[in-house]
Amino acid sequence: MLAMVYTGPGKPLRKAEVSTPRPGPGQLLIRVHACAVCRTDLHIIDGELTQPKLPLIPGHEVVGTIAELGDGVDRFKIGARVGVPWLGWTCGTCSYCRNGQENLCDDAKFTGYTLDGGYAECMVADERFCIPIADAYGDAEAAPLLCAGLIGYRSLVKAGKGKRLGIYGFGAAAHIVAQVAKYQQREIYAFTRPGDEQGQQFARSLGATWAGGSNDLPPQALDAAIIFAPAGELVPRALKAIAKGGTVVCGGIHMSDIPSFPYSILWEERTITSIANLTRRDGEEFMTLAPKVPVRTQVEEFRLDEANEALARLRSGNIQGAAVLITTR
Ligand SMILES: [Zn+2]
Ligand SMILES: [Zn+2]
Repeated sequence: MLAMVYTGPGKPLRKAEVSTPRPGPGQLLIRVHACAVCRTDLHIIDGELTQPKLPLIPGHEVVGTIAELGDGVDRFKIGARVGVPWLGWTCGTCSYCRNGQENLCDDAKFTGYTLDGGYAECMVADERFCIPIADAYGDAEAAPLLCAGLIGYRSLVKAGKGKRLGIYGFGAAAHIVAQVAKYQQREIYAFTRPGDEQGQQFARSLGATWAGGSNDLPPQALDAAIIFAPAGELVPRALKAIAKGGTVVCGGIHMSDIPSFPYSILWEERTITSIANLTRRDGEEFMTLAPKVPVRTQVEEFRLDEANEALARLRSGNIQGAAVLITTR
């Protein structure tokens, strides 16, 4: 099969013919139709996440159909359409797994990081972590739901129920979260790179009450803010934008260092927290909610062998919505 392969930091992905994997017990062989490109893929390729398998096939927002079943598979049938998210395997026995926090499992394995992912024509995945995809969604538009959507949803839940929600970094996750937040009758305050008029316009088109640069203060104090951009200097800025008792949620897997800041902007019971990975329950909840909103994803399609170009465009902030690799041959 054709795959785009990562071999080490600083090197572009290599287009290669590799052998098609075989499904082991409990695994599905999936023919990949679409795989969205996530900022986490950039953090892996840039060497900021330091434990990838090598060589690695990245990609953890995968939509495809089941081509073959491993021994003991009983949740799915051949031909069914499924999604494969970031969380690829958990131990089931550590204290986190037993307490409903499998996202923090001590031995978790991650799709497109410690397991091969969907930048390929086929992949294998543990059936327990795969997610059925609603018929309402095409392959390409469903793909960003699987990380941008799921992590965005987890971030939104962590932000609490407050009405005024700030979002820093208006990319793939934000464009989904904004729709869910609006459905929940919240007000969205969108923060983009300073001067990014196009990004601010995009945010307004998705219903943002206000859009401005990340160094601006919103017209009113916010109840919570979610930071999707991987820039640590946004943390003190977001703290200044939230009201007493408010929460700042860092939604990314990696962020540059957070500069020191005066205690006064944290005081009055403001909270800073982060989101790590996802649970299967997040997947069920969000994929049930998405068609009701209904969440519509804006995608820009690339061919599988254009993965390097898609990553470069994401790096420069030059994608509206989500970049998705389409696998056809
Ligand atoms: Zn565990
Ligand atoms: Zn992701």
